[in-house]
Amino acid sequence: MDRDERIARESVVAAARALDAQGLNRGTSGNVSVRFRDGLLITPSGMPTDRTGPDDVVPMAFDGTHPPDQKPSSEWRFHRDILVSRPEFGAVVHAHPVYCTAFAMCGQAIPAIHYMIAAFGGPSVRCAPYAPYGTAELSDLALTALADRNVCLLANHGMIAAGTDLEKALWLAVELETLCQQYAVARQIGTPIVLSDEEIGITVERFRGYGLNAAGSTGSTTA
Ligand code: 13P
Ligand code: ZN
Repeated sequence: MDRDERIARESVVAAARALDAQGLNRGTSGNVSVRFRDGLLITPSGMPTDRTGPDDVVPMAFDGTHPPDQKPSSEWRFHRDILVSRPEFGAVVHAHPVYCTAFAMCGQAIPAIHYMIAAFGGPSVRCAPYAPYGTAELSDLALTALADRNVCLLANHGMIAAGTDLEKALWLAVELETLCQQYAVARQIGTPIVLSDEEIGITVERFRGYGLNAAGSTGSTTA
């Protein structure tokens, strides 16, 4: 393993630990990948994050092949399929954060109840229909839900965030969980007001130069 690969593997481990530290994941749930050379580097399956080191990260070619003595995350298909079909993304995180997952358990999409939804590329965050974890069917449903977006919910499961790099993907994951928490609280207080597609379209444009976006793209910005 050369120096660049070690650094990339360390960034995958650091991102997985950051998901835990920020309360977005617990135990063995969730997984992280980053585009690397002609494939990806992905967290191992079923290994607690605090016991995962750079040597445990699995190198995978885009055809799904990997060293036979290593077990990649069971969700390698949607990580691989996102990185192959969406060249604007360089990293993917998947987690089961409480508020995202609560809406996903209800099969509910997130409407434009806050302007921050524009950070995700448009006026809604879709919820992909349920399919068993680790399946090609789940990957297909996730890709559809991610059209023109950089995040989606997965029914009865969790969420996915994809970014130009790991820092961006983690930022989006934190923002999505925050938005879901705010929406849940607002629904207990009253009836949240949904912003128009036009308003969100304006904000998508404003976001092009905001924060981490200033250095890269959120992916598509179709409203
Ligand atoms: P892995 O441990 O195989 O990555 O699975 C965790 C998970 O969240 C499955 O959806
Ligand atoms: Zn999962």
